[in-house]
Amino acid sequence: MVRSRVAIIGLDGMSWDVLMHYLEQLPCLRNIISRSFLGLLKCIPPLTPPSWTSILTGVKPQKHGILSFVKYKTCRENVHYRFYTSLDVKAPRLSEILAINGFFSLVINCPISYPLSGWYLERQIIVYDISSPKEFICPSVYERYLKYFKYIHALKARSNIEFLEQTCKLLELRTEGIEMLLEETNPDVLVLIVSETDTIMHRVPVIPAGKYVKSFLKILEVIDELLKIVAKKFDVIILVSDHGLRLFLKGLNISKVISDVESIKPVHLRKVLLSLLSTNMVTGLIHYALLTNIWTYKLAYKFRSFIRKFTGKRAVKRDRRIQRIRPDPIDAADAMILYFSSNQTMTTTTERLKYTLGKYIIEMQTIRNSDDLYAVYIVPQEGLYLNLDPLHSVNRWDILWFPSARHTIYGIFAWYEKGLIEKPTYIGVLNNTDVLPTILARLGLPIPSYTDGKVIALPTISKQVAGQVDYRLIRKLKMIRHKMLYRVQ
Ligand SMILES: [Zn+2]
Repeated sequence: MVRSRVAIIGLDGMSWDVLMHYLEQLPCLRNIISRSFLGLLKCIPPLTPPSWTSILTGVKPQKHGILSFVKYKTCRENVHYRFYTSLDVKAPRLSEILAINGFFSLVINCPISYPLSGWYLERQIIVYDISSPKEFICPSVYERYLKYFKYIHALKARSNIEFLEQTCKLLELRTEGIEMLLEETNPDVLVLIVSETDTIMHRVPVIPAGKYVKSFLKILEVIDELLKIVAKKFDVIILVSDHGLRLFLKGLNISKVISDVESIKPVHLRKVLLSLLSTNMVTGLIHYALLTNIWTYKLAYKFRSFIRKFTGKRAVKRDRRIQRIRPDPIDAADAMILYFSSNQTMTTTTERLKYTLGKYIIEMQTIRNSDDLYAVYIVPQEGLYLNLDPLHSVNRWDILWFPSARHTIYGIFAWYEKGLIEKPTYIGVLNNTDVLPTILARLGLPIPSYTDGKVIALPTISKQVAGQVDYRLIRKLKMIRHKMLYRVQ
C-alpha cells in the first residue's frame, strides 16, 4: 500500500469568522476548504502553548504538563516562575510517535521545541519555534536554511503598517525556505505552524474592516501560496488552529469576588501597598490613582500603552515574587489561570466564583501544578473576557465595557483529501485532543491508550485498529526525566 502523505498546517489564533471574511480572495485556501470536512475545534484552555501541545500529543494539559507560557513554583512563601521548555512536555508528540513507527517528519515552529529533545530524532527535522531562545535546525546539516526562518519578534517596526509589511516579507522568505526543504527532504508528514496570524490579530484589528484589512490580506495571500506548494506534495491537508480570536466588547472583572475570600485579603492588601511602594513611589501612585476609579480607569485603558511604558513593567516585575494569587501575565486570553499556594484557598475561591459568577463561567478545571502550587482554569461564556485587576476591586463593577481582542475556545478544523469530497461538509464540534488519534488512525497506526481524544469518523479512516505499540514506555521515560531534571516528587 502506498503511504499517504499528511500535512498539518496550523494557523495560530485563526477562527472561522476571520478566515471566511478573506476566503474569496484566497484561491488555494478556498479550494481546500470547499472540499473539506469542516469543524469547530474546541480548545480548553485557549492558550497557545497548552493547546498546540494538546493537538500534537492528543492529551489534555493536565497530562502533558504545559499549562501556560510560564511555570510557577513556590519556594519559602515566594512565587518563582520560568518559561516552559520541551523537557516539561510529558507526552510524546506526533513527530515522535511517527518516528517510532518509521515515518519521517518535518516540524516547523512547533511551540516549546527548545531544547531539542525526543526519541528517534534521526527521523525528524525540527526547525526552531518562535519562542525558542536559540535558533536551530536539527539535524544541523540543514542549518544552512536558517536564514529563511526568521520570526516576527525580530522586527522593530515603527508603525502597524510597517509591522505588517515586514511580517509579509518574513513569510515570503519562509515560504521559499519551506519549498526548498520539502524538495530536498521529502518528508512523509509535515507539521507547520504559522504564528503570525495570532500576533497580528492582537496588534491590529483585521475584521470587519479598516485600514489594516488590505495588509492582512497580503499576508494571507503568502500563506495561500505556501499552501499551494504543500498541496502539490501532500495527499491529506489538515488545517487547524489552537484557538480563535475575536474582539470582545465586555469583560468580567473577577477580582472583587476573589478579594471577598477572607484568607486572601492580607496578601491582597500587601499587594496594593507593595505596588505603591514598588521601586518608584510616583509611578505607583499614578497607577493606583488611575485604577481605583472607573472613569480614570477608562482613561487609563485608552492610554494604556503609554502608561505601561512608565509604570506597568516595573511594578509587575516586582510583585510577581510576592503575590500568592495572580492571573497569567499574558493578558491575551479570555481563559484565565489562577495559581494558589494551598488547596484550601483554591477550593474556597473556586466555590465562591461558581456561586457568584456561575452563569458567566462555562468551565472551571482545577489542576495540580506542582507539589506546592495549585491552579485553576476559568473559561468565561462566549462574548466575555476575564479580567483580574486587584486594584480595581475597590469598585463594585464586575462587568467591564472595554473592548479587547481576546482568544476564544473555538479554533478551526478542516480535513482535506485530494478527490475525496466535492463540497464542504460540516462535522460539528471536536476537541483539540482528537487531532492526533485521527491522524494516526488515517495512517493506519495504533492509537495511544492514554489519549484523551477520539478518532473522528471520516470515510478514509478504517475502523480496524492496527497492531499494538506501547507508547506508555516513552511517556513514562519522559516523566522520569522531567522529575529528575526538576526534582519534583
Ligand atoms: Zn495561539
